[in-house]
Amino acid sequence: MEGNLLVIALGGNAIKQAEQQGTTEEQFRNVDLTTRQIARIAREGYRLVVTHGNGPQAGALLIQQEEGEPEVPAQSLAACGAMTQGQIGWMIQNRLAYWLRQEGIHTPVCTVVTQVVVSAEDPDFQDPSKPVGPFYTREEARRLQQEKRYVVKEVKPSAPRGWRRVVPSPEPQDIVEKDSINALLGSGAIVIASGGGGIPVQRNGDGSYSGVEAVIDKDRAGFVLAQAVSAQAFLILTDVEKVYLRYGRPDAAPLDRLSVAQAREYLAQGHFLAGSMGPKIEAALRFAWWSRHEAVITSLDKALEAILGRTGTRICP
Ligand code: ADP
Ligand code: MG
Repeated sequence: MEGNLLVIALGGNAIKQAEQQGTTEEQFRNVDLTTRQIARIAREGYRLVVTHGNGPQAGALLIQQEEGEPEVPAQSLAACGAMTQGQIGWMIQNRLAYWLRQEGIHTPVCTVVTQVVVSAEDPDFQDPSKPVGPFYTREEARRLQQEKRYVVKEVKPSAPRGWRRVVPSPEPQDIVEKDSINALLGSGAIVIASGGGGIPVQRNGDGSYSGVEAVIDKDRAGFVLAQAVSAQAFLILTDVEKVYLRYGRPDAAPLDRLSVAQAREYLAQGHFLAGSMGPKIEAALRFAWWSRHEAVITSLDKALEAILGRTGTRICP
C-alpha cells in the first residue's frame, strides 16, 4: 500500500465474537488480540486512525435502558452511541498502548468522542432501515410501538421472536471533531475516532449541534473519517478474508482485486448483502474513487498480510 496514513475500520468480531455473552473480560480479551494486530501494522511504519463498530454493545445498552425504566429514564440513542464510544475507545486505547510498548513504539494513543453530522432530510428518517436491540414477540413489539413510539418491523424468519425496533441510518456527511483529530494526528498520536459510526447530530440554525435518534453505519462513517484525515489507505477488517461473488453459493468465487467500476456493477447486481458486505463495498469504492488510493477488505487476522498485498480484496481506483 502506498502512503502511510491508514484508516482501519474494525468489525464486530474485533470486540465481541458472535457466540460470546459479551462480558467486560471477554471483550477485553478480543480487543487484546485485535490491538496486537494493530501494533504490528504500526511497526511497519503506518500512521493510524482506528474506527470500530458498536452493534452488540449498543444492543446490550438498549436492553439495560429498557430494564431501568421507569425508575431510571432510558437515554437517547445518541447518548448510547456516546457511551459505547467511550467504552470501546477505552478498551482499544488501553490494550493498544500496551502492545505498542511491546513493539518498542512510544506513540500516544487517544480516543476522540466524535459527532457525525447527518441531514434531517435523509430519506431514512421517513422509513427507518436499521434493526437495533433485542428481538421481540409480536405482542411485545406492539406494546413498545404504543408505549414508546418505537418503529418496529418483522424480520424473517419471524417466529417466535421475530420483531425488532428499527431506527434511521442516515448517510454521514461530516465529522464535527475533524480539526481535533487532525491536530492529534499531526502531533504523532494514533487516534481512535467515530466509533460506532459516530454520535449522530444535526446542525442547528445557530451553528450548534443536537443529537438525533439514529445510528450511522460505521463503514460509511469510516469513509467520511478517511476523507477528513486525507488517508492514503482504508482497511476494513471483518470476519472474511476475501469478498466473494455469489457469496454463500456453491459457485462462490473470491475476489482479489476489483476496480471502482466493477465494484459498482457487482453491488448493483446484488452480490454484497445490504447491512453487511454492501456498506463495506460502498465505503471502499467511495474511498478509492475519491482518494485515488486503494481500499482493502479482509479479516482481522490477515490484516498485515493484506497490507503487504498478499491477501484480501482490494478495491482500486
Ligand atoms: P462487521 O465485521 O463489520 O461486523 P458484518 O458482519 O456486517 O461486518 O459483515 C461481514 C459479513 O458479510 C460476512 O461475515 C459475510 O457473512 C457477509 N457477506 C455478505 N456478502 C458477502 C460477500 N459477497 N462476500 C463475503 N462476505 C459477505
Ligand atoms: Mg458482524
